[in-house]
Amino acid sequence: MSQQANVPSRPRPRIDEESRPWWEALGRRELYLQRCLECGALRWYPRALCPECLCDRTQWVRASGRGKVYSLTTVHQNQTPGFAGATPYLLAYVELEEGVRILTNVVNCRPEEATIGASVEAVFQDIGNQTGLLSFQPTRQQA
Ligand SMILES: [Zn+2]
Repeated sequence: MSQQANVPSRPRPRIDEESRPWWEALGRRELYLQRCLECGALRWYPRALCPECLCDRTQWVRASGRGKVYSLTTVHQNQTPGFAGATPYLLAYVELEEGVRILTNVVNCRPEEATIGASVEAVFQDIGNQTGLLSFQPTRQQA
């Protein structure tokens, strides 16, 4: 029943030089985005060229880890090894406070608890080798 039990058999991230800072930050439980040094645009996913102006000069900036669900769906079937026992799960685009949208999972809630516009916060899962995976969970209301 636990989704965690399936994690070791899932595909591992393919880490290259462009994405290495992203994965290493997740391993430290931090969320970083690339910012173009020419036009200032933030982007996700990690890549060499700015999609706005094609500049290759980049800096990494820390993001808040807070955002809102922009779009989501519940996945009921996934034949990929390691995912079959994980269904149902939520696949979502989360729009960060910084304006960047990330394709991710919403976790630690029942599917019906997550809605478009809901506030979410980053959740980090250690996967070894000083890297991690990023998901989001509904922001818990402070009493
Ligand atoms: Zn740019």
